[in-house]
Amino acid sequence: MTKPRVLWLNVFVFLITFLFAAIAVPYRAITHGFDSAEIIAAVICFCYCGMSITAGYHRLWSHKTYQAHWSLRSLFAIGGAFALQNSALHWSSDHRIHHKHVDNNDVDPYSAKRGFWFSHIGWMLRDYQPERYNNYDNVRDLQKDKIVMWQHKHYLLLTVLTNFGIPLAFGLWHGDVISSLLLLGVLRLVLSHHTTFFINSLAHIWGKQTYTDKNTARDNGILAFFTFGEGYHNYHHIFENDYRNGIRWWQFDPTKWLIKGCEYLKLTSKLRTSPEDKIEKAKLAMILKRSQSKLAYHPNADELMAKLQQDYDALIVKLNEFYAAKKQMLMNKSNELVSEVESSELVKHYQELKEKFIEQKKNWQLLAAQTV
Ligand SMILES: [Zn+2]
Ligand SMILES: [Zn+2]
Repeated sequence: MTKPRVLWLNVFVFLITFLFAAIAVPYRAITHGFDSAEIIAAVICFCYCGMSITAGYHRLWSHKTYQAHWSLRSLFAIGGAFALQNSALHWSSDHRIHHKHVDNNDVDPYSAKRGFWFSHIGWMLRDYQPERYNNYDNVRDLQKDKIVMWQHKHYLLLTVLTNFGIPLAFGLWHGDVISSLLLLGVLRLVLSHHTTFFINSLAHIWGKQTYTDKNTARDNGILAFFTFGEGYHNYHHIFENDYRNGIRWWQFDPTKWLIKGCEYLKLTSKLRTSPEDKIEKAKLAMILKRSQSKLAYHPNADELMAKLQQDYDALIVKLNEFYAAKKQMLMNKSNELVSEVESSELVKHYQELKEKFIEQKKNWQLLAAQTV
């Protein structure tokens, strides 16, 4: 079988920018140095590119997890061109296929099952699926977004204007064009590229399968730190309509904070989250599955597995009761349907169920940990 043709422009851009970042930037740092204003400007540009991809390309356009004001969409469209990751339309088309056919080597454009190199960068170096971009029919909804189509039409011009224009303008203003081109131009671009690419490669290899093992996606807090929160990729692949990737308050997800923060400024709206009971059930089911597979070799495997399953079933009953009570309480609160006395009784009932559920969950998790 003949290999698809090499995309020389992509090879050239990735190679040249990488070589500049690996050789010219350190050389400049040693012989000339960079001042703090240049470093801060480069970090700001890096964050602008990164968040345009994570909050814009990914969570807004690919997954429609919230809605955004035109001003914010325009900023993301320009930032996406600055990040040099193709147009939002093209990127989202690829990404929707990645989710729909994850790990399918024939369809998933950056299938992790084809190895680290392929999923990281190799998939962009050859024309693997040329026929797919004829009409972008899996992103018809995005074709109605004027900003998406404007960016798609003028993508090349926007990439040149941002990637040369921004570093050049800063360099002229600050008084050192070469340093600015190297730091804000090249190093920022290479770091932005590879940190995003890690989501397709490392986030499908390294980390925990907290919520599902039906695909290779992993949760990884370290990766989340370098990718504006996208490292919680196992959660994302099972609950892709959620605007959050790191769902706990302590999980590092600046993209989530940006989207939520913009809601207070009325720049974002209709933020979507997944039902808590579904999230909890997915997590518990994975603990059960892991414990059962480890128990298989235990001398009392049958007995222990039966006990684990029995307690798990009881736990799920408690979980359903607790979340049903929570739903009822929230509904009554928002509709003000019941009297204060009834309401306080419901709250009490809910608190009791909550305590029981937490207690039972703790015991069951302890049992699951002990049996392995
Ligand atoms: Zn996604
Ligand atoms: Zn993925």
